[in-house]
Amino acid sequence: MTDRYAQAVNSGFTKTLAKKLGLPRPAILRRYRDGDPLTVGPVLVLADAASKADADAVARTLLGWDLDVRRDHHDDVRWGAVVVVLTEAAEPTAVTEPVLAVGSVLRSLAGNGRVVTVSRAPAADDSPAVAATRQGVDAVVRSLGKELRGGSTSNGIVLTDDVEVGHPSVLATLRFFLSAKSAYVDGQLLRVGTADATGIVGDRALDGQVAVVTGAARGIGAAIARTLARDGAIVVCVDVPAAGEALAATANAVGGTTLQLDVTADDAGQRILDHARERHGRLDVVVHNAGITRDKLLANMKPAQWESVVAVNLAAQLRINEVLLAAGIDGLRIVSLASTSGIAGNKGQTNYGFSKAGVIGHTRATARLLAASGGTANAVAPGFIETEMTSRIPFATREVARRIPSLAQGGQPVDVAEAIAFLASPAAAGVNGQVLRVCGQHLVGQ
Ligand code: NAD
Repeated sequence: MTDRYAQAVNSGFTKTLAKKLGLPRPAILRRYRDGDPLTVGPVLVLADAASKADADAVARTLLGWDLDVRRDHHDDVRWGAVVVVLTEAAEPTAVTEPVLAVGSVLRSLAGNGRVVTVSRAPAADDSPAVAATRQGVDAVVRSLGKELRGGSTSNGIVLTDDVEVGHPSVLATLRFFLSAKSAYVDGQLLRVGTADATGIVGDRALDGQVAVVTGAARGIGAAIARTLARDGAIVVCVDVPAAGEALAATANAVGGTTLQLDVTADDAGQRILDHARERHGRLDVVVHNAGITRDKLLANMKPAQWESVVAVNLAAQLRINEVLLAAGIDGLRIVSLASTSGIAGNKGQTNYGFSKAGVIGHTRATARLLAASGGTANAVAPGFIETEMTSRIPFATREVARRIPSLAQGGQPVDVAEAIAFLASPAAAGVNGQVLRVCGQHLVGQ
């Protein structure tokens, strides 16, 4: 699935022409490659006066990651990232200086640069001024995402429950947002709470773990299988028997095993559990990726079109999760594929939107059930991703969908896979019941 417009405006004669005509030129996004540096340049750490100690702690961590960390702006530096620590900001005027300082360095931000805020979530007993300040940060992150150019992104980490900035889950989230792994994540705020988190913050985070990926024969699922295997997981690749050949190709490529299974089967959960335990001795991660669309305006929707979408995208996940929860697996990670259509709705997709919003609903409820045993349930909501599913969208609609996001392009399957690998990693234990959009900042609001 290629984006010919993005290719044309980034190469040769058509690049010059596009520049002259002032046409939008989607940047070529930097994606993770083994051995590449974490950021594209030095990292500037800023803070409001009250958050200096937290900023010091963040700066020490970044130094430990071998980054070139600075606390002051110098005109000659081309910044790879700016991290703004606002954890203790308690009144609106407190954020003025650090936020305007970000503004003053944006012209020196390198392409594919990063702005990451670290702030606190409003709490029920906050004073109005504290609540206003904390809430205000959200819109700074989102507005900045819409202003940045050249593939740069703006995302925020929001601490809940008195979690400290040095918590492994905060650091894992910071590393994800700074890295090329979050290439298509823009304008997002991820809440981090105080679950016990162990495991390394970095690469190979899934070493020795067993992960099940449904719908792994192609598209996003195949990319998830590859990415989890890259991070050290043994991957069980699940798909319908009709996709057997492609499924085997994915499993062979990642050194995993195949399980031919329709996820809507009554015994799907038990077969997944049995396969993982009998073949690999354990089960640590389940990624509910299998999904279908049967788009129709509601006025033309046939019962089978509604029912099949809900059965595959939602009911199958609920049924499989019941078996997984009953199995009492410590530290289980469940990541489910939602969609921006499940957040904003989409014409022709009442059935799909219902199923994907349902995924968000059950993820939040399942997160509470898993927390006691150190597990998490999170959802990833892709926007427009270049796959066979989206290649069937009519040309004009597809082209509009590509240009609407702040990053002015569709995402790649690997972008969704990287977000899932991050959420599945042990150090992300404090990220629970969240919906992470991988959409290039596609929607207004949310
Ligand atoms: P795709 O159609 O390319 O692949 C889906 C895979 O799921 C296929 O291999 C298919 O055989 C498998 N599958 C379908 N029904 C199944 C069943 N009953 N049992 C087992 N496997 C089954 O789709 P994709 O674009 O890779 O999407 C993957 C997921 O991401 C889906 O849940 C989709 O809704 C979601 N998503 C995709 C996009 C996008 O832009 N492509 C956007 C938002 C959400």
